[in-house]
Amino acid sequence: MKNIIVIGGGAAGMMAAITAAGEGHKVVLLEKNEKLGKKIFITGKGRCNVTNACEVEDLFHNVCSHAKFLYSAIYSFDNQRVMQFFEDAGCALKVERGNRVFPVSDHSSDVIRACERRLHELNVDIRLRTEVVSLWLETETETVLKGVVCSDGKKIPADSVIIATGGFSYQLTGSTGDGYRFARKAGHDVTELSPSLVPFSIKEDVCKQLQGLSLKNVKVRVEADNRKIYEDMGEMLFTHYGVSGPLILSASSYLVNKAKKPEGKLYIDLKPALSMEQLDKRILREFEENKNKQFKNAITSLFPAKMLPVMPVLAGIDPDKKVHDITREERMRFIDTIKNMTLTITGVRDYNEAIITKGGVNVKEVNPSTMESKLVKNLYFAGEVLDLDALTGGFNLQIAWSTGYLAGLSATET
Ligand code: FAD
Repeated sequence: MKNIIVIGGGAAGMMAAITAAGEGHKVVLLEKNEKLGKKIFITGKGRCNVTNACEVEDLFHNVCSHAKFLYSAIYSFDNQRVMQFFEDAGCALKVERGNRVFPVSDHSSDVIRACERRLHELNVDIRLRTEVVSLWLETETETVLKGVVCSDGKKIPADSVIIATGGFSYQLTGSTGDGYRFARKAGHDVTELSPSLVPFSIKEDVCKQLQGLSLKNVKVRVEADNRKIYEDMGEMLFTHYGVSGPLILSASSYLVNKAKKPEGKLYIDLKPALSMEQLDKRILREFEENKNKQFKNAITSLFPAKMLPVMPVLAGIDPDKKVHDITREERMRFIDTIKNMTLTITGVRDYNEAIITKGGVNVKEVNPSTMESKLVKNLYFAGEVLDLDALTGGFNLQIAWSTGYLAGLSATET
């Protein structure tokens, strides 16, 4: 029987501990918070989008960094097995729009409770309020792992250690980047870190005016370094500092991954179902019916109320002008504003608002078949601490469950 330590009681750490203990080994799970799964609790707006019920191949299409690295992990413990795990552990699941999987109860706490139940059944030694401050490495070589050192100075010996300390975002949940430090000390490279799945800061004041407004079925395009980085349709939200919402979070992932700097232009097509010509006809119809009205009062059926004072200004048309006085050129400018509302992305918001951290322990130095370090024997990594990230839709938790499972299983084998 091996002694295995798992650092971090998040999704990856709990799954690693459950898997290793399930193989009959002695597992100690160290969590610095007063409870397990603090981040899981806030996932999916408190409902926890556990995974995505898509075809397995599609899981890889939704991974932004190093999808190939995940082949073994995902095929060892794919989305079907994740769902089976939770159903068996007493957390009934349901599939929603876009194959997103949630607990039937709509409570993320049920996902945490299911994991806790399994941990207790398997007699995992859970030590809360226990912070690891460093790996315990043999002093001369620093490549022989002996266990971990906790904040009270105590050393806990182990045959294997799994680092599942998460990323660097939403730090109040406990993910304060400790694992990056442990990895560096063990000789690992940590790739550049940046917030991802994160709102954009926008230069123009118009966002402040529109704050709180959510737009469904709009098309956005992001351009940076003189090329198109992202284009898709969906839902977005204006905030006091810029833009957010599912579409923007996904766009941020591409901007952070593909552009030199997270800066560029955001083009919003407010009427993607209509071509320029169709939109022109629609507007002409509105103008015809309201020709004696002021411009601002003739466009009320085209936009939500919050946008009405904003659109004439963006199009450079006097809102009080009578519709019959609007020139063709002004009408064309108005159409262009609707199809190409242009905002300047000055950056992404910080880690406190980022769903995930892009970057992490360099996967080139980790064995993808086992999650074991290629530099330090018996040291494993799982979850967001690795340089892995995916789009929204349950894919990031899938990464955590799969890598946690594989690390837990491998730690019992080598
Ligand atoms: P974490 O969940 O961050 O767990 C790491 C744990 O390690 C923490 O409990 C921490 O306290 C502990 N720890 C850290 N350092 C130490 C130390 N030195 N000693 C002891 N313990 C330590 N993904 C989805 O797939 N679906 C969603 O619906 C979803 N919603 C999200 C919503 C929000 C607001 C956020 C912020 C993220 C969301 N994500 C979602 C992303 C997902 O939560 C993460 O990718 C996932 O939780 C990562 O799991 P992890 O176990 O690697 O890390």
